[in-house]
Amino acid sequence: MRHLILVLGDQLSFDSPALENFDPTQDSLLMIEAPGEASHVWSHKARIAIFLSSMRHFINQAAARSWPFDYIQIDEKLPPTYEERIAIALRRHSPKALVVVEPGEWRMQKSLESVCAAEGIELRLIDDTHFLCSRHEFSQWAKGKKELRLEFFYRVMRKRYNVLMVDNEPEGGQWNFDVDNRSAYPKRTGPGEITEPAFFEPDDITKEVFHLIEKMFPDHPGQLEKFAWPVTRDQALHALEVFVAQRLPSFGQYQDAMWTDTPLGWHSLLSAALNLHLINPREVIAAVETAYRDGRVSLASAEGFIRQVLGWREFIRGVYWTDMPNLKEANHYQSKGDLPAWFWTGETRMACMRDSLQQTLEWGYAHHIQRLMVLGNFATLAQLSPQQVGDWFLAIYVDAIEWVELPNTSGMALHACGSRFTSKPYVASGAYIGRQSNYCGQCHYDATKRSGEKACPFNTLYWNFIEKHEASLSSNPRTALMTKNLQKMDKDELTRVKLHAKHVLSNLDTL
Ligand SMILES: Cc1cc2nc3c(=O)[nH]c(=O)nc-3n(C[C@H](O)[C@H](O)[C@H](O)COP(=O)(O)OP(=O)(O)OC[C@H]3O[C@@H](n4cnc5c(N)ncnc54)[C@H](O)[C@@H]3O)c2cc1C
Ligand code: SF4
Repeated sequence: MRHLILVLGDQLSFDSPALENFDPTQDSLLMIEAPGEASHVWSHKARIAIFLSSMRHFINQAAARSWPFDYIQIDEKLPPTYEERIAIALRRHSPKALVVVEPGEWRMQKSLESVCAAEGIELRLIDDTHFLCSRHEFSQWAKGKKELRLEFFYRVMRKRYNVLMVDNEPEGGQWNFDVDNRSAYPKRTGPGEITEPAFFEPDDITKEVFHLIEKMFPDHPGQLEKFAWPVTRDQALHALEVFVAQRLPSFGQYQDAMWTDTPLGWHSLLSAALNLHLINPREVIAAVETAYRDGRVSLASAEGFIRQVLGWREFIRGVYWTDMPNLKEANHYQSKGDLPAWFWTGETRMACMRDSLQQTLEWGYAHHIQRLMVLGNFATLAQLSPQQVGDWFLAIYVDAIEWVELPNTSGMALHACGSRFTSKPYVASGAYIGRQSNYCGQCHYDATKRSGEKACPFNTLYWNFIEKHEASLSSNPRTALMTKNLQKMDKDELTRVKLHAKHVLSNLDTL
């Protein structure tokens, strides 16, 4: 055999550069399901399902092309780890080289390197052209910069790919339309009718995967009843079409809004399809820009969305590969708290956390503001260990792959890398959550109180956090206002808040 071409579970595209010169007469595909990947972190059942089902659909399409392949199934009686299973495949086929597109995880790349070295087989890693900025290009851009900022990177990408540009200037004269994009749902009427995204009824392949998961991982968190994710390229393209036509027009305005029983809002739900490479970010960006040029969506909505895909998604990946492996150990605030058990059940009296966690368990999904300003915000204020929080985020979302999960969790939500790539910690009191949602009206806790038994834990922990980090926050122009407000607080009240915070921090499990 010339090349054994390993297609990882998050590389499901026939446009993959590893398949460019595929020759069925002397090459073969290799795909591996490994129980170790489902239990490396305690994965949500829907996360396991989306990977396995998408991989199985992909290999069926390869089979339809009469391509030779070796597909190792999760329940085969073989050692459980991915690494052991690759070694077995290498021995089985003795290829001249193992060819694979750069993995999304640092851990996987190290595994491939070590297993190929041990088996004496050449490993050929190929640049991942799914992304618009290669690892090398990003590291060149980041070189010599102590702090990396999305805004500058994003402008480079807009110019480079000529997206929403006119004569080398940003469309509409601004790079950023954030001010138009932060509305809450109307408090009196709520979100009203939200057009549904494309849902996909599980087919026989997906149902077979569900069956295997219930058999092999019955104790894993999360449910499968709501599983309706795209698992093929055709489905992903349909999901994109429905989003752009029916949901994108309201996406921008309500992207930061939260409301009970509104788990999906106007969001695209495209992250998993993108991360598995069922669709390409170029086609997503082009569809959105075309909708704007045709007058079907506002510039604020189109720009708000494009910044997430062309900006944040590429930036986050670049940061991951530039800062690994240190990123995984980062802990700017030296937070060591244990993750409360209710993160896995949603059983807490805090309405905002309960709603965000319960929908996460039902769908394997929460939108960005729930992840950042509810779950992540709480984790920062409660001084939880970034490593434990990171493992939870990696386990619990259908779109979670370490290159995108870790910088978002550790770097953005928990500020564990200090100001390396975000200029301030994303912390807020209950007032922010109250403004952006209807959660507080249904909560056991009182959003107006900072201390006392009924005080909103976000309030108590927020002021405790500001006081603890007053020196560094006051010297940063982006956070100085937070400390000015602290200085206005009555001293006795501050003492009460600090005392209550101590009690809350030692009783997180009972909140
Ligand atoms: C603590 C935390 C953990 C996160 N973990 C993940 C993760 O494991 N996987 C993941 O794909 N995203 C992650 N994100 C980013 C973001 O929350 C999700 O991409 C988004 O919620 C997915 O839903 P959507 O497809 O409906 O996104 P939309 O709101 O519709 O956004 C459109 C697309 O933009 C991209 N995008 C938006 N924000 C980001 C971002 N910050 N980083 C990278 N891409 C972005 C995604 O591809 C997304 O599909 C995380 C964010 C936080 C704060
Ligand atoms: S009162 Fe506090 S804990 Fe309750 S929903 Fe509002 S912000 Fe969340």
